[in-house]
Amino acid sequence: MALDGRKSKKLHSICKKLLKKYKNFTLADIEPESVMIMWVDGGSSAKWLGRIRIIQHPYSVFFEEKYLIEINKDKISANCENKKQFKNGVIAVCYHELKHIRDDGKLKKHDIEDFVDILKAFGVGPYTKMPNLLKMETTEMRKRLGR
Ligand SMILES: [Zn+2]
Repeated sequence: MALDGRKSKKLHSICKKLLKKYKNFTLADIEPESVMIMWVDGGSSAKWLGRIRIIQHPYSVFFEEKYLIEINKDKISANCENKKQFKNGVIAVCYHELKHIRDDGKLKKHDIEDFVDILKAFGVGPYTKMPNLLKMETTEMRKRLGR
């Protein structure tokens, strides 16, 4: 594991808001301070939009955070036509990565169904109709996800 991305306050603020909004609904109740999140130039041909892992030794000695989320800026922007789509896409990817964290703090494997469910619930195409998950009412989210 390498830590070669750029830490972002903006991304962290998105995570913090998502954790607050979806805590005890779809996201685990964890401290936002335990999440380090950064932009990574993963390339537009990469298969991943975002990824999460637990920060391992020796990095764990130097950082207080437990989780590292990397957001592939190139890949997300390659799928977006404008700033709004990009923003909503980034929020959705952050949300998905946070969903990897289980209630016991461990990570669950990538669940493609989970991601596809979100896309299906909000329209065809990954980003074109993706709403802002921070602005959406949780009741609306429940309805769309059928919960
Ligand atoms: Zn995943």
